[in-house]
Amino acid sequence: MKLTEILNSEKLSLSFEVFPPKTDSAFASVENATMQIAALKPPFMSVTYGAGGGTSQYTLEIAKHIKQAYDVPMLAHLTCVSSTKQTVAAQIEAIRQAGIQNVMALRGDIPAHLSGANRSGWDYHHAIDLVRELKASPADFCIGGACYPEVHPESVNQKEDIRYLAEKVEAGCDFLTTQMFFDNNLLYNFLYKAREAGITVPVVAGIMPITNASQVERAIKLSGSHMPRRFLSLVDRFGNDPAAMKQAGIAYATDQIIDLFANNVTNVHVYSMNKPDVAAAIMANLSDILGK
Ligand code: FAD
Repeated sequence: MKLTEILNSEKLSLSFEVFPPKTDSAFASVENATMQIAALKPPFMSVTYGAGGGTSQYTLEIAKHIKQAYDVPMLAHLTCVSSTKQTVAAQIEAIRQAGIQNVMALRGDIPAHLSGANRSGWDYHHAIDLVRELKASPADFCIGGACYPEVHPESVNQKEDIRYLAEKVEAGCDFLTTQMFFDNNLLYNFLYKAREAGITVPVVAGIMPITNASQVERAIKLSGSHMPRRFLSLVDRFGNDPAAMKQAGIAYATDQIIDLFANNVTNVHVYSMNKPDVAAAIMANLSDILGK
């Protein structure tokens, strides 16, 4: 199933992202966790792509297993920046053969050792290059792109970031998913500007439940997200008590999602961090709202 069928409907949708194992030995435990999340029967799930390294094949393996076992529509992530045309073409063909119709087209982060390199010989410079390639494929993929309510860290300003985003959508993105954010007003402001720039495709809001104190620093480093005072107070108060922090983090994420739904953001994607208990708790908190 193409995700546009879900994302363009009026129905509220709460979906989950999982990530593949980083080592071969972690495969079984990651698969077990992702299967437990799939058993919750979300409207769709995504599997991230670890650029480079030897485990990138696991993205597709996890996605295939979930689809086969639970018939949950899958979104396979794919990055391009440190890849060759040949590698990407092989990956696209593997996705097609796996019967996965939805691809998240990403540039990927530029590896630190290449940040100052001469880029003229690179096969890919931006996600738009991959979007165009997927669009030209006979497989008729439903294509997603990433967007940044708080501006991509490499962008000079939001205006420029949104201008490139509009070009990426024009090239073939059927929907966008946001970077995590912890203050919904940042999303509402971004949506206003994106719509003003002519971006009309569905925008899926990415929510990261922070369930332990060490995640806070990692989330800021990874995404540059602004942490509102209200959230930081909660970490100050409960950060040293794992059970209390988990409960508070789940409640904060639930609160954010309810506010989004109430303000007509109908599609929310939860960065589950492969934690089935967290995914299940958020779903349970929203059971009547989601009509389950
Ligand atoms: P782009 O759309 O190419 O944008 C990157 C930067 O380049 C932006 O500043 C943009 O404004 C600018 N830009 C775009 N086009 C042009 C142009 N034509 N000329 C000049 N500048 C331009 N990473 C992974 O490795 N694996 C994953 O699975 C993964 N999943 C993600 C999912 C989501 C929802 C998000 C938000 C991010 C994800 N990432 C993932 C991280 C992502 O790869 C990085 O944020 C990366 O730095 C940018 O990727 P992008 O696809 O947004 O790039």
